[in-house]
Amino acid sequence: MAHISLRAVLLGALGASALSANIAHAQEPLQVVTSFSILDDMVSTIGGDHVSVTSLVGPDGDAHAFSPKPADAQSLADADLVVVNGLQFEGWIDRLVDASGYEGEVVVASNGIDTRSFEGHEDEGDHDDHDDHDDHDHQDHATDGEEEHHHHGDVDPHAWQDLENGEQYARNIRDALVKADPAHADAYRANAERYIDEMEALDKEAKERLSQIPASDRLIITSHDAFGYFADAYDLELLSPVGINTLAEPSASDMGSLIQQIESSHAKALFLENMTNPALINQLHEETDIAIGGTLYADALTAEGEGSTYLGMFQHNVDTLLDALAADD
Ligand SMILES: [Zn+2]
Repeated sequence: MAHISLRAVLLGALGASALSANIAHAQEPLQVVTSFSILDDMVSTIGGDHVSVTSLVGPDGDAHAFSPKPADAQSLADADLVVVNGLQFEGWIDRLVDASGYEGEVVVASNGIDTRSFEGHEDEGDHDDHDDHDDHDHQDHATDGEEEHHHHGDVDPHAWQDLENGEQYARNIRDALVKADPAHADAYRANAERYIDEMEALDKEAKERLSQIPASDRLIITSHDAFGYFADAYDLELLSPVGINTLAEPSASDMGSLIQQIESSHAKALFLENMTNPALINQLHEETDIAIGGTLYADALTAEGEGSTYLGMFQHNVDTLLDALAADD
């Protein structure tokens, strides 16, 4: 009887809907919305059975070009926790959160990583002061005359392409889940520890295997600059037609100078991306006769198969690069 009267008091104080929402909340897995598929896999891995994850941008989707629908606002409205990449990757997220009425925490998975600046085109006016750009990122890049001006443009959002950053994402997600759902803190901590160990092992393996690529062949050419962190971590070089955002379209003269650059670099292979239009790479292939070395998983997981997890995506990218670049021919 005491229980019923407490319930009656709470109903009066909070309103029936707030109370029933709280009761429902306690009985269900934690409802987590992530911005894109890589975070979906990370949260699912660390959260296990205690979370139910919905991703706004799904497998093979392009978060740069995403247009939220009303159903996405509804997903956010129903969420207990929202996890995003940050670093300006999801340009649409703030408006979507506002529109949804979601008032909980928006966890930025990349918090605490060493950000990488993207050295963009000269005419990009607006310089945010990135206090955290580290010059050690650049010192081991040979000065081959190409980059006299050291312009720091936008920050590169593709931080998940370095497994050491993936470990930081995992720590941030673990801490957010522990805070949102302390009853299952032990499970979140144990899952995260195992996951981080797996990332460390794969990182070590990737470094060993990618070191087999000859110095003259350490160039990745992709549709957009999704692999800057990857290139920095595993000592490769990167070229792309459009920079860090898939929405940019290269001009004819941009493509002309890129083709010259590719030809003078004696590049061994071009790579498609799973979530971008292959037209630019196909055009480069036709104009340079350089082989297409396969598809790299860039800003999204795949719906099925090896690329449907973060660790599998990484393994696939290492294998694909090795097959195309380390072959003796
Ligand atoms: Zn991208």
